[in-house]
Amino acid sequence: MPALSAELGIELYIKRDDLTSWGAGGNKLRKLEYLVADALEQGATMLVTEGGAQTNHGRLTAAVAAKYGLKCAIVMIDEYPGEVSANILLDRIMGCDLILKADDGTDEHEQFAKLCAQVIAEYEAKGEKVYYIPMGGSNALGALGYYDCAVELTDQARGLGLGDARVIDAVGSMGTYMGLYCGLKNENSPLRLTGIAISPFGEYKEKRIVEYFREMKENYGLSIDAAREDFDIVKDYTRGAYNNVCREVRDAICYVAQKEAVLLDPCYTGKAFAGLMEMVKSGAIAQGEKVIFLHTGGFPGLYTPHHRKAFEADLEAGIRIIE
Ligand SMILES: *Cc1c(COP(=O)(O)O)cnc(C)c1O
Repeated sequence: MPALSAELGIELYIKRDDLTSWGAGGNKLRKLEYLVADALEQGATMLVTEGGAQTNHGRLTAAVAAKYGLKCAIVMIDEYPGEVSANILLDRIMGCDLILKADDGTDEHEQFAKLCAQVIAEYEAKGEKVYYIPMGGSNALGALGYYDCAVELTDQARGLGLGDARVIDAVGSMGTYMGLYCGLKNENSPLRLTGIAISPFGEYKEKRIVEYFREMKENYGLSIDAAREDFDIVKDYTRGAYNNVCREVRDAICYVAQKEAVLLDPCYTGKAFAGLMEMVKSGAIAQGEKVIFLHTGGFPGLYTPHHRKAFEADLEAGIRIIE
């Protein structure tokens, strides 16, 4: 990314996992490659997954289901945004059922578990064989998609003379980060990895990241070991909440679009890139450092009502209407 490299004083590259095939692309397809193979092997007729109303993972689960002739439903603990737009529109276009229930303020994981169990039982009563995929496709099997990506990135970086670059990705449900971490370390890659958390990284995630690694090690016989301090997760740029409206994130999205014609998203990659820019400012990313930003997708999020309205307030003034 020559223009941004010149402006930021780093050597910046981008890995375009937003351009993966099907359903408008994004990181979840690499995980779903493994998950759908398992579903088909088990004779499933339907995929059921979970997430927020604008889950990109849900959209890509719908895409994979369509491609393989499976039914699909997404269970969402969220408010209905009041219109069929953004990822919800794409989910429905691809034939996926959506089940929404507003957050009742109790433990989120319990709410999902309860509603998913109920929805799965309903579809099974109708004769479907349901394969359940956890939030973000982030279990041990799904993370293998990003183990593969780590191998691919290492080869590509070596070819470009970027062997020891730092890879930066947005961290949500952690499958992408964990797959990359295991792939890079277990394959002795010289690439380094920094994850930027895009939502508050509290006690649950602190525990989960260590447990997730243990699952990877046990399931796949990794030859490496890791403790919490081995995972470089930056928590300074969560900006308080998941998928919230933020000035700095909108500015980063416009900046990258205007310098490199790359569209980031307001929930994950825009927030991560805004964090990357602040890390350059603070010196946490050194001048001259080689950085590979992993673009994990998510552009339909630009069209969600709350983000679109915030952009509209910023940008409508630049539209001239001739009468
Ligand atoms: C899900 C998602 C991420 C985060 O990936 P995890 O594996 O959940 O941490 C990043 N970017 C986009 C666009 C996503 O949809």
